[in-house]
Amino acid sequence: MNIILLGPPGAGKGTQARRLTEDLGMVQLSTGDMLRAAVSAGTEVGKEAKAIMERGDLVTDEIVIKIIDDRLDEPDTEKGVIFDGFPRTLGQADALSDLLDRKGLALKSVVEMRCDDEQLVVRVTGRFTCGMCGEGYHYSFKMPAKEGVCDKCGSTDFKRRDDDNEEAFRTRLLNYYKDTSPLIGYYHAKGTLSPVDGTAAIDEVEKQIRAAITA
Ligand code: AMP
Repeated sequence: MNIILLGPPGAGKGTQARRLTEDLGMVQLSTGDMLRAAVSAGTEVGKEAKAIMERGDLVTDEIVIKIIDDRLDEPDTEKGVIFDGFPRTLGQADALSDLLDRKGLALKSVVEMRCDDEQLVVRVTGRFTCGMCGEGYHYSFKMPAKEGVCDKCGSTDFKRRDDDNEEAFRTRLLNYYKDTSPLIGYYHAKGTLSPVDGTAAIDEVEKQIRAAITA
């Protein structure tokens, strides 16, 4: 089963993708995570993407399509993939459709996580993650039970994304409305779109997504 989580920055796509992978055997393909890894590793792609990502703009379709194309050839994607943060433009959506056809794969469903803009800015500017296991936290809503120690893996190393500041967030949100939100109509027309209430509590959103992808 291959699904797409579609939604603005801070909608909770990464959080939900991580939860779904825990028992469904699917892998999370986050182009944002893959690009951040390329930036950290200092690859050619990373060098090209770094400043663009810091501003909150989109890297080229060509780069992300190539990343996804290569990644889908790895054997761990066989049980299914959760696309998180991809596709983000109509060009990427068309390319994904061609890629899936070419590889004999199908798209089961596209889950649209609907949110409220002001809630998004609060979520994004307050979030941080464990540098070891990736568990997500928030200064206002979810601090580690023991200060400075990850609940999940015990690490004391936490990190914040460079683009989780208000200025970059506003650019990311604008780009979402300009380039990504047309995908809602695109997948609606294809009959694969399932909206869920992304403003609900994390467990409730997860319940709605599970219902949508198994329907
Ligand atoms: P994310 O972690 O999904 O919020 O992505 C972080 C940043 O990576 C975005 O603001 C873009 O600069 C870049 N990025 C991630 N996915 C894509 C994509 N599908 N197309 C273009 N840029 C992307």
